[in-house]
Amino acid sequence: MWQKCLGERRARQIQRALRKGKLTLICLFLTFIVLRGTIGAGKFGTPGQDFREISHRLHSGHSSHPHRALKEEQMPSSNAAAAGKAAAAEDDDPPRDPSEPYSLGPKISDWDEQRAKWLKSHPETPNFLTPTKPRVLLVTGSSPKSCENPVGDHYLLKSIKNKIDYCRVHGIEIFYNMALLDAEMAGFWAKLPLLRTLLLSHPEVEFLWWMDSDAMFTDMVFELPWERYAPYNLVMHGWNEMVYNDRNWIGLNTGSFLLRNSQWSLDLLDAWAPMGPKGKIREDAGKVLSSFLKDRPAFEADDQSAMVYLLVTQKDRWAKKVYLESAYYLHGYWGILVDRYEEMMENYHPGFGDHRWPLVTHFVGCKPCGKFGDYPVERCLKQMDRAFNFGDNQILQMYGFNHKSLASRKVKRVRNETANPLEVIDDLGLLHPQFKAVKVDISQS
Ligand code: UDP
Ligand code: MN
Repeated sequence: MWQKCLGERRARQIQRALRKGKLTLICLFLTFIVLRGTIGAGKFGTPGQDFREISHRLHSGHSSHPHRALKEEQMPSSNAAAAGKAAAAEDDDPPRDPSEPYSLGPKISDWDEQRAKWLKSHPETPNFLTPTKPRVLLVTGSSPKSCENPVGDHYLLKSIKNKIDYCRVHGIEIFYNMALLDAEMAGFWAKLPLLRTLLLSHPEVEFLWWMDSDAMFTDMVFELPWERYAPYNLVMHGWNEMVYNDRNWIGLNTGSFLLRNSQWSLDLLDAWAPMGPKGKIREDAGKVLSSFLKDRPAFEADDQSAMVYLLVTQKDRWAKKVYLESAYYLHGYWGILVDRYEEMMENYHPGFGDHRWPLVTHFVGCKPCGKFGDYPVERCLKQMDRAFNFGDNQILQMYGFNHKSLASRKVKRVRNETANPLEVIDDLGLLHPQFKAVKVDISQS
């Protein structure tokens, strides 16, 4: 009837509009359902309650991590408790017999011979890439759990990206560990069982380079002076006088160091480990360390203090194979470096590795992943961004970009695009670095 009144064409238009309207309504309804789910409105609330809850969530701090908040908050408490128990049961290794002395593994005393034999029968993977450049594996890692402070995970990502960049340019391989190989050695002690395992599994590797997750490369050009270390098995940033004379617990740093693949190193790990087992042993050892070492605050035994203690108390056994490096920043304390980046950019260029352009900036005491550090977390994160961008500028520069400023994630072009890309001059020499090149014997090809 109305079709007749309005005319065929008009009626079809109205029918189409109604169909579209229905579709729009269905879409609106679905959007509402999805929004309720993602923003996290109440399960059985009235629309009024929903609205109040949604606006509360948008205004509380959860808004930037809705998915994480959802995952953690939507698990009913009984489920969470059950999951916790299951995880704990899974985690429970049989307790160690405290009367047995702690050991990192079965005693090995002929590693140098075993390794030499292996190297001889595997000429395809030599432990030296050139007569002076050793094969190096950079080892780093973090806890198997996600960060207590959610943004910390993003900084772990930035930190590993930074290490990948340095290592690619310098022909170094990387191992990132997230497994607690030995429950006794949790936290900063986790590196000991890990290093032992890697030394034994990779005879082709000459040096392991341990680097903390809170340390970043800030000089992408600097190559370690490998020749200098030929007579040594352990290289750490530090000062002989501060360690051997002053017994200062910050006379060296264990956040970035080199360990040669050798029997000596296995023995050192064995001698270093006894203060590590968590619980009473670690707590009591902390007291011994605080009374023996200069300026050490009271806290459980840490690997760095234990290293100073070992070097001082058994100097004859270890010191001659230990090189404490202070000519450049194998580790650089962030507090004295981060405010000077602009000054460095104005006066110097990458490649020095020292106070002019530090190789490593290490955020000691920052704990970006945990809840409690020694410094305000905002300051740490801001400065970690600056350090990351400072290092990243040298990588971006290869491709014609730079960060707009050290505080900025955004980038700008620093050279014009060209139709002859291969003629672009690689200022820092990072695109095809000399130290990465392996000599090819062209006479045979
Ligand atoms: N670490 C690890 N697993 C853990 C906890 C820590 O591998 O479960 C590593 C991580 O690389 C970290 C390092 O141990 O950077 C030492 O800890 P941290 O850097 O927090 O100590 P600081 O340098 O502040 O003394
Ligand atoms: Mn650290």
